[in-house]
Amino acid sequence: MIHPIVIHPDPVLHDISTPVPQVTEATRTLLDDMLETMYDAQGRGLAAVQIGVLQRVVVVDIDWKDGASNPLLLVNPEIVWSSDTMAKREELCLSIPNVPTEVNRPDRVRVRYLDRMGAPQEIDADGMLAMVLQHEVDHLNGLLILDRLEEQK
Ligand SMILES: [Zn+2]
Repeated sequence: MIHPIVIHPDPVLHDISTPVPQVTEATRTLLDDMLETMYDAQGRGLAAVQIGVLQRVVVVDIDWKDGASNPLLLVNPEIVWSSDTMAKREELCLSIPNVPTEVNRPDRVRVRYLDRMGAPQEIDADGMLAMVLQHEVDHLNGLLILDRLEEQK
């Protein structure tokens, strides 16, 4: 089911999302809905808060626009390591339509999460995937790219 996307400056975007205690059928439905909503909105990543659900759930697919769909579904994602090397990239956010913003972030990260079946996983990411994962984890902590901008000034 496609959900409407919460748009800045809706205050819910600054709320902190709650960890999912257990991955259930309801979690899987949420993940499926989020993926459908993200594709519909032409995005590469979506956090549950962006459809008004304050749970630590994220979907990412950086490849689908190039014809190679590779969805990554993450419950309770946590950045457990990040590189000292930084990279500045232009980011877009479905909650802040049409405002590309340059953000400086670690170039590589390791993320720990639960998959669709609730099994613990780890992923090492660099480049665009590292950027999108950090962007989505920021959402779970109530942070938008606009807040990162303030931080850099
Ligand atoms: Zn965003």
